[in-house]
Order: sequence, then structure tokens, then C-alpha cells
Amino acid sequence: MKIIMLGAPGAGKGSQASRISAMYKLPHISTGDIFRKNISEGTRLGKKAKEYMDKGELVPDSLVIEIATDRLLQDDCQKGFLLDGFPRTVAQAEELDKIMKKIGKEIDKVIALEVSDDEIIERITGRRVSKVTGKIYHIKYNPPVDEKLEDLEQRADDNEETVKKRLAVYNEQTAPVLDFYKKQNKVYEVDGAQRLENITKDIIEILEK
Ligand code: AMP
Repeated sequence: MKIIMLGAPGAGKGSQASRISAMYKLPHISTGDIFRKNISEGTRLGKKAKEYMDKGELVPDSLVIEIATDRLLQDDCQKGFLLDGFPRTVAQAEELDKIMKKIGKEIDKVIALEVSDDEIIERITGRRVSKVTGKIYHIKYNPPVDEKLEDLEQRADDNEETVKKRLAVYNEQTAPVLDFYKKQNKVYEVDGAQRLENITKDIIEILEK
């Protein structure tokens, strides 16, 4: 299974990708997570990416394509993978197609999570991530049960101002990626405003088709 999770920031790509990757034992590849890891380790790549991420802008294609290619060519991805947050521009999607062709594979399905802008702003500003487990919570809608509130932190780019910028960037640069895959008949739309469990159920149904 070679799956792409597409959707606006806060649509639930990360949460759903974690669940699905655990169920199907697929590597979960999040370019955002790779950048955040590099930022916390203080690497050159992290320093460069941070400049864009803090402003809610996209990291330049050349950097993203390099890290995504590296990751996709690793052994554990050869049977399948779940992409979360990549591709985010048509140029990245075209490059991904080239990589897939080179290794004799192709993307199977693109899951498009649909959520309204108002809901996204509420979700992202309330989103918290555990410093201990990396699990994603929402202070109001999905508070932690087994973890302490002190262990939760807010992503640097999860404030209202940056979210609005990220949404604009999504509509301008990432929405066309959906059309790119619609032309290949690979897009499956899922109502991302439902409860987490129901979204997962819908995704599983699509994957099992
Ligand atoms: P995410 O965790 O997927 O919401 O990504 C957080 C931030 O990382 C984005 O707002 C971008 O600045 C950067 N980023 C992650 N993936 C990509 C990508 N595929 N292309 C460009 N920038 C990215």
C-alpha cells in the first residue's frame, strides 16, 4: 500500500496516519516531523526549515524533495508507506511520480480529509503534542487520559496568525495537488469533521476496497 494523506493543516492527517500506520504496519512518513526532529537536533537542515515553518510558509521544494527521496528509498518503505504532509506542491507531486517510476512502483490511493476553515482554526489552536510520547491531543476535544498536562506542548506554528497563513498557503499551493491526483483517479474524499474513530473507519473502508 502506497498511500498519501492530503488535507489542510489540522485536518487530522497526522492523527489518522498514526492510527492507520499502526494497523497496517506501514512506515508513517511525515515531512513536518522530519523537519521538527532536525530543528530539535539543531542540524543545518533544521535551521533552514525553521525559517519557513515559523512563518507558516512552505519549506522550498528542493529541500523537501531531498529528504522525502532519502526516506522513500529506505528498505522499510519498499513494500508500502503512508505519506503525511508530502507532497504539498504540484512540483513535489511530479517529483514523487518520478521517484516511484524509477523504482517501478506507483501511488495507490490519496485520502483527502475535508474540514472547514473555521473548524481548522479551532482545532489547531487547541492542538497539543506530548513531549513524552509524541501523541497528538486537543485541550478541549481530546484531552489526555494517561498523560500529564505538563507533558504537553504547543507547536511553534500552531497559533492563530500562523494558522491563517498556513491555510492560505494550503489553498494556493496544496489544493492543486488534489487536482493532480484527481486526474489520475486516485483521490478518495473523507469527511474529516467526524469523530476520530469514524474517520479511521471510513479510511479503512477505502483502503480495503
Ligand atoms: P506539518 O507538520 O505537516 O503540518 O508541517 C509543518 C510545516 O513544515 C509546514 O507548515 C511547512 O512549513 C513544513 N513542511 C512540511 N512538509 C512540507 C512539504 N511537503 N513541503 C513544504 N513544506 C513542508
